Amino acid sequence: MRVTFWGAARTVTGSKHLLTGRSGALLLDCGLFQGRRAEAEARNRALPFAAASVDSMVLSHAHIDHSGSIPLLCKQGFKGSIHATAATVDLCRAMLLDAAHIQVKDAEFLNRHHRGHPQPPVEPLYTPPDVERALTQFVPHGYEEPFVPLQGVEVALHEAGHIPGAASVEIRWKENGRRGSLVFSGDLGRPNRPILRDPAPLARADYLVTEGTYGGKHHPEEASLRDSLGQVVLQALERGGRIIIPAFAVGRTQEVVYALDKLFLAGRVPEVPIYVDSPLAANVQEIVQRHPEVYDQETMTGIRRGEDPLGLRRITLVREAEDSMKLNDKPGTFITIAASGMCEGGRVLHHLKHTVEDPKNTIVIVGYQAEGTLGRRLVERREEIRIFGEIHTLRATVEVLNGFSAHADHDALVAQARSCGAPKGCAIVHADYERAQALAEGIAELKPRIPSEGDVWELG
Ligand SMILES: [Zn+2]
Repeated sequence: MRVTFWGAARTVTGSKHLLTGRSGALLLDCGLFQGRRAEAEARNRALPFAAASVDSMVLSHAHIDHSGSIPLLCKQGFKGSIHATAATVDLCRAMLLDAAHIQVKDAEFLNRHHRGHPQPPVEPLYTPPDVERALTQFVPHGYEEPFVPLQGVEVALHEAGHIPGAASVEIRWKENGRRGSLVFSGDLGRPNRPILRDPAPLARADYLVTEGTYGGKHHPEEASLRDSLGQVVLQALERGGRIIIPAFAVGRTQEVVYALDKLFLAGRVPEVPIYVDSPLAANVQEIVQRHPEVYDQETMTGIRRGEDPLGLRRITLVREAEDSMKLNDKPGTFITIAASGMCEGGRVLHHLKHTVEDPKNTIVIVGYQAEGTLGRRLVERREEIRIFGEIHTLRATVEVLNGFSAHADHDALVAQARSCGAPKGCAIVHADYERAQALAEGIAELKPRIPSEGDVWELG
């Protein structure tokens, strides 16, 4: 057996790890690269391996940087099954169709702007029909229900507590009469958080491939995070402007709504209208309601009692583009939560375009912003930012709240790695190099490696 690291190697996007053995090739995740546009575009167009050479695939969770290249993989000749939890399969339908619509729109936009220039037309990476075809290859599984994706290889999915449906992947095989095992962490969530179940301890295995997004970092306590959010909203109310919160449609949007609901309930912040401006977030909400298995006990109990533990009554879901546009002219203070989380696309761009130049307005950053994204430039409070190709002067207040992460912090990552044990070796992926090094120091006894893209790890 060997692992080839084809993405999320010394970076946090493009998760793709290929496990190859005698019985074939098993791909773990197939995510899109996100970041600087031209670079991401070039890397996403060409898969680094022949799609037809992959026999089977396991997907850890529905986030696009883990799932977003699946339609391309299928389009280029992958014929095998894509194994994931039932919630992940349902979320992928909504998220990949959304991604395809964005690809189509982006291509149209570029082609309009190329007019008159002698350039070949831009094709979308994939289209909604490509997604529909890929979806037929998905196979849903329950947590803790082992399956056999390749002859001689058994896989079980365990709760990762990161977003609904997220799983860590336990892989056991028998090859040449010898047994071996590897755990792929996927993205690990945080213990003791509201809404979702806690991450299960990683299974014991010979080898570990773990994420390290927040290596060396420590998240603030839930209470202090809520205090900070309350402060930010109060100050924004004093300025009398609007509040824009760019957020991933899955997970982060629901977490922010939950925190605002608690602040309103406690009377610590005056109630203000919340608009969740994202057809995807609206779809995601419906999907997650069909998967109560992802919720923790407290949330489940509340739902069974007919309460509203997630604060959903607070929000107005905006599906139509027309209604989204109307928000631009709406007077008064209100909160708009819109995707994408890193401001690389989606409706949040329109809202930013209409708000960044007014010092009364507030932009609240609640998620990780990769280098090269508009979100990162907002965090850096650049004087000038570019939206839809136009330069805008940034006069709005930018507030950064780091604690909303859906990822385990340093201590939780260390505890998870120790739970796995990994006596034969450990690799740290899904982290900028500095973060990976910090995590490596914390688990030095496992002698972790930090693979570069294309590195091959021979498992004994
Ligand atoms: Zn994720």
